[in-house]
Amino acid sequence: MSSEVIKCLIIGSGPAGYTAAIYAARADLKPILYTGMVPGGQLTETTEVDNFPGYPKGITGPEMMEDLKAQAVRFGTDVRFGMVTKADLKSSPKKIWVDETTELLAETVIVSTGASAKWLGLPNETRLRMSAGGVSACAVCDGFFFKGQEVAIVGAGDTAAEEATYLAKLCKKVYMIVRRSEMRASKAMQNRVKNTPNIEILWDSETEDILGENAVEAVIVKNHKTGESKKIIVTGFFVAIGHKPNTDIFKGQLDMDELGYIQVVGGTSKTNLKGVFAVGDAADKVYRQAVTAAGTGCMGALDAERYLAEIGVH
Ligand code: NDP
Repeated sequence: MSSEVIKCLIIGSGPAGYTAAIYAARADLKPILYTGMVPGGQLTETTEVDNFPGYPKGITGPEMMEDLKAQAVRFGTDVRFGMVTKADLKSSPKKIWVDETTELLAETVIVSTGASAKWLGLPNETRLRMSAGGVSACAVCDGFFFKGQEVAIVGAGDTAAEEATYLAKLCKKVYMIVRRSEMRASKAMQNRVKNTPNIEILWDSETEDILGENAVEAVIVKNHKTGESKKIIVTGFFVAIGHKPNTDIFKGQLDMDELGYIQVVGGTSKTNLKGVFAVGDAADKVYRQAVTAAGTGCMGALDAERYLAEIGVH
């Protein structure tokens, strides 16, 4: 087992992690960033990114992540492929194990492990998601590509309700597929959905299959009360059945809400442990945008820099 002591460790390689790296490297914290198993994070699974400031013509998710990485590397970030598997964040310096083999000692840790969208698990959902064929878990990111078209969205929580109303502004029609006869979303959000004329709620319904060779063409929906299956013609299929923050390895050390999102001191990236900062989707269940993740990544690096100055590490 190798062991090294560093000033700043960044865990995760989405917009939050790379932005933290850009700021930390420029502040001479000599950060090491571990990418996790999906270098670039959730954005590597999207197609066009049209809403990140600075790209007037848009950019693909994977290209944008390459740009962010290149910018972090340019200032000296040591980007390493590997998965943090265990952490002792209460010790000082903090102890981190990577792929069970490397042990790192870090004065500060910036957690930017992100969140993963939950999927239904249907084979055609995976296929059309991977081939950018019109299956998405982010209406705000991808809704625009379905302007004037008919789409479906699965889910009945606040996210699904919010995304359905967002899509309804852009699309001709939105089918909302709800598995029970009621919604989990707040009453206010439910009312917004119910009062939007171009949203049709399909109650007690499950998605049986998604049809289409290269792009979504239709969805087979089964009403499990009547037993009836029907085909609805749509070109986009959105899944909004929740996200899971990638924070399991920090349970019992970092304060989290009941869903596993890391709790930070309002307006900062500070966690309950000194020297540990949480940024991006791992600490945000509301906004979940690349630009908000990048913004909090910046905050994480600035907070880490100030903490190191306070404890006299230069
Ligand atoms: P939730 O866990 O609240 O809701 C998930 C929804 O997906 C539920 O309706 C659930 O159905 C449904 N679902 C789960 N699995 C399946 C499946 N396999 N097939 C079909 N449907 C399924 O997740 P959200 O992302 O909506 O919200 C997460 C948290 O973030 C919540 O606390 C929410 O309040 C909060 N939030 C707040 C916002 C705001 O304040 N503006 C905006 C967005 C989120 P069922 O109800 O039957 O279990």
